[in-house]
Amino acid sequence: MSKERLYLFDTTLRDGAQMNGVDFTLHDKLTIARMLDELGIDYIEGGYPGANPTDSELFGQDRKLRATFTAFGMTRRPGRSTSNDSGLATLLDAKADAICFVAKSWDYHVRVALETTNEENLASIRDSVQAARQKGREPLVDCEHFFDGYKANREYALACAKTAYDAGARWVVLCDTNGGTLPHEVEAIVRDVTQHVPGDHIGIHAHNDTEQAVANSLAAVRAGARQIQGTLNGLGERCGNANLVSIIPTLKLKGEFAEKFDIAISDDKLKSLAHAARTLDEMLNRAPNRHAPYVGESAFATKAGIHASAIAKDPATYEHVQPDLVGNERKVLVSDQAGRSNVLSELERIGIKVEKNDNRINRLLDEVKEREAAGYAYEAAGASFELMARRILGGVPDYFAVERFSVNVERRYNAVGQLTTVAEATVKVKVDGEILISAAEGNGPINALDVALRKDLGKYQKFIEGLQLTDYRVRILNGGTEAVTRVLIESQDESGARWTTVGVSPNIIDASFQALMDSVVYKLVKSGAPA
Ligand SMILES: [Zn+2]
Repeated sequence: MSKERLYLFDTTLRDGAQMNGVDFTLHDKLTIARMLDELGIDYIEGGYPGANPTDSELFGQDRKLRATFTAFGMTRRPGRSTSNDSGLATLLDAKADAICFVAKSWDYHVRVALETTNEENLASIRDSVQAARQKGREPLVDCEHFFDGYKANREYALACAKTAYDAGARWVVLCDTNGGTLPHEVEAIVRDVTQHVPGDHIGIHAHNDTEQAVANSLAAVRAGARQIQGTLNGLGERCGNANLVSIIPTLKLKGEFAEKFDIAISDDKLKSLAHAARTLDEMLNRAPNRHAPYVGESAFATKAGIHASAIAKDPATYEHVQPDLVGNERKVLVSDQAGRSNVLSELERIGIKVEKNDNRINRLLDEVKEREAAGYAYEAAGASFELMARRILGGVPDYFAVERFSVNVERRYNAVGQLTTVAEATVKVKVDGEILISAAEGNGPINALDVALRKDLGKYQKFIEGLQLTDYRVRILNGGTEAVTRVLIESQDESGARWTTVGVSPNIIDASFQALMDSVVYKLVKSGAPA
């Protein structure tokens, strides 16, 4: 049986850019567009030409993408002709393969927001679609508030969809703009729409306000829709859009969808999904969601000892799909619940060869338990665990020693009378018998210490040049004057690899220093720096 083609439409650069705290530059947009293109997404919506300088510039140039590059904008304004609407003219002139028009499909919005008649709104949809076709662009129509509109006035919502289709729209996209519709409603409504517009011309655009944007998208496909709109990592206004990073592997790996549909993303490209998801977070300068389905760091992580020994026997026992299919990896967490089997499988994963009955494994296990009791968290700090394991099993050189460090924080008025806080750190290290002293300023004590520590490590300096701290988390473990601080530091290097290290101390600076040291040493081990 030949499979039906299902199309993926990404709106990370348009709807995703609506999210709080997201602000893409032109360079960001081009980088993301290339990444989406590389992945095999069919349509990439770049933005709203004419709405802001970035989007106008983006649509002013040629981009050489395989995907259908799509401009977003409004249908012609009521009461105007297509030739006398400057917004529409800008949209039609944009260098794009397709135009996605947003149109009202709820009569209440037509009356209140658009202040026009139902008939004029239909005429505006028809005229805009025809104008795009005449200009040689593939037309799509986003029917805004379609599901709410359908519930309020079914006939009119269907008339909007049908008008768009009859005028020649390649896709009539049903939007759950408020994100409040539930999967069973989506399925029933889309099924009804397919009686008026063929399913292979229907798209779904779901928002995540009840955390069902992915479920709603899949429900629409079950009912006959053949285009799914969404964003990478579910970026989008309020609670976000449908997350393509969850939808793609579901379509590829889950029987009901995989047997029926083809998408343009190859098995090979699927393996780059986790990387794409993390790259986007890096660009947004935020830590990736560890618990993201399929691609999160914890998506295939197991903690309890009994699960770990079962996983070692057969991974399928506790995994719904194989992690490597989406470019992720299995992880067995080392924690206070750790049994030998956790530690053994973790050692195997990180490539440390050791006999099963080696006595040193007990020593490592005791050390883990003792340190976890003191507040260390190795399940979150794989790199610190790896260093400890390598030390006990005999493989970490003493690259350098920190003889002493000091940090000074001063709050004072500067030359122009503003109150400022300045931190300075000095670090004295010994490398190969040679003493090196570095000092640095920072916006805070940890930053100053980090800069000073990494300023001059003599012959090791070249190995840590690409090292960057990407996340810093502090947790106070027990209250009161006896409080202990746990610091987790996430680092990244030039290859994009990330790792987390941990430090614990009653003193936050000391805890941070331990985590920093582990990160630097881990990087030296990873780079194969000579002893
Ligand atoms: Zn939207």
